[in-house]
Amino acid sequence: MEFRDRYDVVVVGAGPGGSVTARFAALNGARTLLLEKRQDIGSPVRCGEGLSKAHLHEAGIKVDKRWLANEVEGAHIISPSGYRLTISEKHAGNEVGMVIERDIFDKVQAFEAAKAGAEIMVKATVTDVIKENGDVIGVRVDHFGERFNVKAGCVVAADGFESQVGRWAGLNTRLKGGDIMSGLQYRLTGVEVDPAYCEFYLGNSVAPGGYLWYFPKSEDTVNVGIGVMAKRVKEKADAKTYLDRFIEKDPRVRKGKPLDWVAGGVSTSPPLERTVAPGIMLVGDAARQIDPITGGGIANACRSGRIAGEVLGEAAQAGDFSLSQLMKYEKGWRALMENRLYRNWLAKEKLAKLSDETLDKLIDSLADAGVEKLSVLAILHAVQKKYPELVKDFQELL
Ligand SMILES: Cc1cc2nc3c(=O)[nH]c(=O)nc-3n(C[C@H](O)[C@H](O)[C@H](O)COP(=O)(O)OP(=O)(O)OC[C@H]3O[C@@H](n4cnc5c(N)ncnc54)[C@H](O)[C@@H]3O)c2cc1C
Repeated sequence: MEFRDRYDVVVVGAGPGGSVTARFAALNGARTLLLEKRQDIGSPVRCGEGLSKAHLHEAGIKVDKRWLANEVEGAHIISPSGYRLTISEKHAGNEVGMVIERDIFDKVQAFEAAKAGAEIMVKATVTDVIKENGDVIGVRVDHFGERFNVKAGCVVAADGFESQVGRWAGLNTRLKGGDIMSGLQYRLTGVEVDPAYCEFYLGNSVAPGGYLWYFPKSEDTVNVGIGVMAKRVKEKADAKTYLDRFIEKDPRVRKGKPLDWVAGGVSTSPPLERTVAPGIMLVGDAARQIDPITGGGIANACRSGRIAGEVLGEAAQAGDFSLSQLMKYEKGWRALMENRLYRNWLAKEKLAKLSDETLDKLIDSLADAGVEKLSVLAILHAVQKKYPELVKDFQELL
């Protein structure tokens, strides 16, 4: 087998997870290559562009005017009959705080990786992993039609929701139908929305098994999107019907003109059982680190990317890419977020089954109790007070 190059670390995918991994691997002394199959990092955007400020510092990312479109004060959560819970940004959870320009955000993260010393190739598609005695030792690359092999101490699969690299390496990345959300979104301009608040609409009549969102980019432009549980709609087109119907009924956005259209899948599964195997690590959506309730995954991809990069830098310095060294990543990201991901997955399983009537009661009781912190626990305690029968099924989460 001929290899054109050899790197300590080869990262597949220049989304936020991949770029942050490459940045921290390079910063910590690893010879790093970042491969992106698209011609333009960050584009086209497949994202609602909602991001909280809460965890970015853990990934070494500072809020940056280049990608910040709008800062919000909080979020309204609205039940099918219109009960409304308003929460402040501080307590809103993972996807409220900022609305960003996601294409620029991704480019800035790749820029930081380059600044740290990583090499980057665009239009470079990884077509397979190369194994020796079952261990991953490199990747096959198609770069502008030229095919070659690259050897790596470790390959990082940061190739997103549809991740093939992890599967090629032999990790079980399969998703159940109930753990896949279909997401669709218009960016509408010429609307009249309150730029200070994101809005989330719940209910089976609105978005079966998911929710519908308004993320304002300014007072006249908003991302209006929907996530529906894939197995709860007959065809993908059904999600668009729900979204179009909702927009048509809202006079604030009905006359909006679309600037773009986004469609993509989101996993809402529990975390993978294994995200590391000899010669390979999975980061971000590829590792199913996305929040199963909100479908938000930017922050978690960045947070775990930093851990991956630091572990890989250490591996390169020590010349030790053994499984026990790589397992430090597995332990590190799980310590940071696994409990929350698992708890939110359990809650999502239950919430997705609630009727519109129950959701009305839920939001009513939360608004009544003045719930501020939108954690699963805070919600359950508040609902227990007013509608104890509603939380019977959630006892294990309390
Ligand atoms: C409709 C929709 C709305 C969303 N809204 C939000 C939101 O508001 N807030 C939020 O936090 N999250 C949101 N998400 C989720 C968020 O987009 C992801 O969690 C995030 O992009 C994960 O980052 P990542 O780096 O793991 O993967 P990605 O950003 O998916 O990056 C993967 C990269 O790998 C590249 N790639 C794939 N295969 C190969 C290959 N073989 N060779 C080379 N390159 C390859 C891809 O081109 C891509 O650039 C949304 C998702 C969807 C679909």
